[in-house]
Amino acid sequence: MYQSATPPVLPEALEIVPLGGLGEFGMNTMALSWGNTTIVIDAGVMFPDPDQLGVDLIIPDLSWLEQKRGQVKALVLTHGHEDHIGGVPHLFPLVTGPIYATAFTLALVQPKLEEHGIDVGDRLRTVRPREIVTVGPFRIEFIRVTHSMPDCVALAIETPVGTIVHTGDFKIDQTPIDGQHFDLHRFAELGARGVLALFADSTNIERKGFTGSEIEVIEAFEEIFTSCRGKLVVATFSSSIYRMQILVDLAAQFDRMVAFVGRSMIQNAEAAQRLGFLRIPTGMQIRDVEVESYPSQEVLCITTGSQGEPQSALPRIAIDDHRYVKLGPDDTVVLSARAIPGNEKAIARVINHVARRGADVIHDGIKHVHVSGHGSEEELKLVLSLVRPRYFVPIHGEYRQLARHARVARRVTAAAPHRVEVLLAEDGDIIRFDAAGGRVEGKAPAGRVLIDVTRVGEVGDEVLRDRRHLAADGLVVAVIAINKQTGSLLGTSEIIPRGYVVEASQAESLLQEAASVIEKLFEATTLEERTDHGLMTERVRVELRRFFKKRSGRRPLVLPVLMEI
Ligand SMILES: [Zn+2]
Ligand SMILES: [Zn+2]
Repeated sequence: MYQSATPPVLPEALEIVPLGGLGEFGMNTMALSWGNTTIVIDAGVMFPDPDQLGVDLIIPDLSWLEQKRGQVKALVLTHGHEDHIGGVPHLFPLVTGPIYATAFTLALVQPKLEEHGIDVGDRLRTVRPREIVTVGPFRIEFIRVTHSMPDCVALAIETPVGTIVHTGDFKIDQTPIDGQHFDLHRFAELGARGVLALFADSTNIERKGFTGSEIEVIEAFEEIFTSCRGKLVVATFSSSIYRMQILVDLAAQFDRMVAFVGRSMIQNAEAAQRLGFLRIPTGMQIRDVEVESYPSQEVLCITTGSQGEPQSALPRIAIDDHRYVKLGPDDTVVLSARAIPGNEKAIARVINHVARRGADVIHDGIKHVHVSGHGSEEELKLVLSLVRPRYFVPIHGEYRQLARHARVARRVTAAAPHRVEVLLAEDGDIIRFDAAGGRVEGKAPAGRVLIDVTRVGEVGDEVLRDRRHLAADGLVVAVIAINKQTGSLLGTSEIIPRGYVVEASQAESLLQEAASVIEKLFEATTLEERTDHGLMTERVRVELRRFFKKRSGRRPLVLPVLMEI
């Protein structure tokens, strides 16, 4: 909304291009351009379906930003979830300016950049809520919101055509664990002053009512702490610092020592403690190696693996394959996270394995041990009513969530004194705001790029997702026949290379060795592991990938095919 009475002839338009997150859950990334200044909001990843073998991460196609090389002046991050920061190492090379984010978000971003060997120098800039930074024609204000992790912000961006509000991810938690409240006042003030467009999180639009506070899980956990006679193992997302704090407080109350288990859990707990977001009484924390040296009823383990990821802590503990944590009949395992769609089977397998250890399993369906971090319908309506934008753009969701959010928005504003116009956009749509108003006009390149983290850089596109990978290093299919009942190996596995170039003289022996790698792997596994199809497929993939890398320096795409006979 421009301020002057006589509309000036605007030489340019504000162009907003969602590159990810409008049409799927994940890889949230959005570019805002005015003239030759572009800023990017968030740089997220999406995780592949289990059947997308050889793919570890998915990021948006960034060619729109490549076209604007040299003009991308800043990356602004709303919070530290992977679907908002996981793509930073891939996107940051296209940015010539700083990364602006809150302290905790930057603490999660920094190790990612280091892992990728990216030298950021002094380009990481810590911001606080209500702070304002200026990037070219943009004046960016950070506004505190509540979510499932600390230090999350929404953005109010003043542009030459008006103010854009981007909510980031949020719910309205009125009893936040850290006492940092959702800044409803600021949203209302902005609304009173006039907002051109609101971009709002649609994740939970299909849920009625209010989502509820993080503290809601305390009651269920109190019951669990009271009744558990052995070790308590709780799996949650490693970014769920609030959940960790609730568990730590209960552990203090019920005289249990706390151990963090799993690499990202240990890393994030450390960062959260360092920055004061997680408080653990002195002497209460033990290391994972010490877990078995304490009586089991005195230990709480907070672990990774709530999604059943085969290489993470809980799935390993569940099959008795973890170095430091074992499960017994008196122990209780709690899955304190939602199942990300696509992971249900892997999670079900983990639950079965835990049950075989004799331990009790509690999940969301049994007790209220998880609460969502995203606002439900009433919270989304409230934000819309406070901000009263001229244009509304639903973000963060599949098309059905975006469309529903659009419908809800029309209902909320139907009787409002000034009408809200809904712009239903998808990845790659160019949303233009100029003197004539706002509309979706034109297409920017958009899509998905699939990443194999064992390699530096990207691998291919969706159609032939590993095209470049295949071209460079080829493909190895391992056909493995196993006994349906025992899971044991039947005969020698067939290793079929395609486009994987080795010297002819070495080829045969290399493939024989690969077959024996599989044999050894099967010999070293238990009956329980062997009969777990998903687990063995992942194991074979990891082992063979390691083997080929070591022997040839190449990283062919490995596709294990397990045939039950
Ligand atoms: Zn989030
Ligand atoms: Zn998100």
